[in-house]
Amino acid sequence: MVGGQWGDEGKGKIVDVLAEESDIIARYQGGANAGHTVHVGEEEFILHQIPSGILHPGKRCLMGNGVVLEPIQFFQEYDEAEARGISLEGRVGVSLRAHLLLPYHRLLDRAREGKSAQKIGTTGRGIGPAYEDKAGRRGVRVVDLLDEEEARNRLVEGRERARAKLAELGISDLGDVEECVETTLAVRERLLGLATDVGLEIYEGLKAGKEVLLEGAQGTALDLDHGTYPFVTSSITTAGGAASGSGIGPSSLHRVLGVMKAYTTRVGNGPLPSALPPEMDEKVRTLGAEFGATTGRPRRCGWFDGVLARYSARVNGFTGLAVTKLDVLDTLPEIFIATSYRTAEGEISEFPADTRSLETSEAVLERMPGWQASTAEVRKLEDLPRNARAYLDRIREITDTPIEMVGVGTRRNQIVHVA
Ligand code: GDP
Repeated sequence: MVGGQWGDEGKGKIVDVLAEESDIIARYQGGANAGHTVHVGEEEFILHQIPSGILHPGKRCLMGNGVVLEPIQFFQEYDEAEARGISLEGRVGVSLRAHLLLPYHRLLDRAREGKSAQKIGTTGRGIGPAYEDKAGRRGVRVVDLLDEEEARNRLVEGRERARAKLAELGISDLGDVEECVETTLAVRERLLGLATDVGLEIYEGLKAGKEVLLEGAQGTALDLDHGTYPFVTSSITTAGGAASGSGIGPSSLHRVLGVMKAYTTRVGNGPLPSALPPEMDEKVRTLGAEFGATTGRPRRCGWFDGVLARYSARVNGFTGLAVTKLDVLDTLPEIFIATSYRTAEGEISEFPADTRSLETSEAVLERMPGWQASTAEVRKLEDLPRNARAYLDRIREITDTPIEMVGVGTRRNQIVHVA
């Protein structure tokens, strides 16, 4: 399951639904910058690191090698879930190959973003610097904790390296970085207790006929390679990353579900070609409660971007779509879909590699009549208003991908399954 836009597509709810029919649920990239929001009954769970599959009793939830794991916060989340009555004993596993995100990564992230002329709009969680250390072959992996002395040496090295870099950036107040060696070693045994070879576990699970769900965070337009670089996250969010980030071969993937909102949003900086005019932006943000789960930041809203959606379907090889938050558009008299972009060089219908050209491009919009009726109680495709069905048909046509599910509300059961 992959986000098809700029993240926040409502993947948490879709994972939650898919988790029911899965035995193993694994995350393959990202870190505590994710933040799925899942509503179960009257309760709301915001999970940043632990896969939301934990909300289903008995499911095995794994953090693949492609994630960067913040151990302190991970255990806070773990303990909070247990305190709210979710038993996690034997249910959570962490890849031995996953890299640790340490307090100095967070400080570096904030210091850099503060100094930078071109702000990416990061969540300030240290994700970028942690992946930099990974690519720079300086990272500390879960497996490196096996030997306590070795672990201490690596952590001290990391801290000292970060201290020097922070000094260059003019930061002398190191806060929790000072104690990071001790605080990390304090959870060492607990973390090792969860450590596993995730790829092997999934491989054996598949051999034994188990259903495995690989859960993506963020979205396609935030992919390090395929997104709107440099306004992207530091990992491979697209479907190819699901194999490498969990440690299985791509031939094991037989279904790729793209999750897309019925409109578009973007948090953080960077272009949003189908952006709504201010009044409408405010309206959709309120209707859709578009504020970041991790940071509380307001998200910019836009019409459904058909150019991005088609690109996304191609880059990921989507075999099906889940279109979420259709209900948010219920009251609008007319709805638009971006079908191409008008740029200085002329009209283009393929998502461009040049992010700068996106900044100055304007979406060419196709108008569709709204349905102006509530969809919240609809559970069957044929019961959706005719104009809503026409809207979904247009999305299917543009993406050349069948729609498998449609979200019509925040609750678990507010979903239309398309046979
Ligand atoms: P994620 O990171 O992709 O999981 O996205 P978020 O956690 O930011 O989820 C988006 C929000 O949309 C959450 O508050 C969900 O409860 C909500 N949501 C998900 N699906 C739907 C839907 O179909 N309709 C409405 N109205 N809200 C939804």
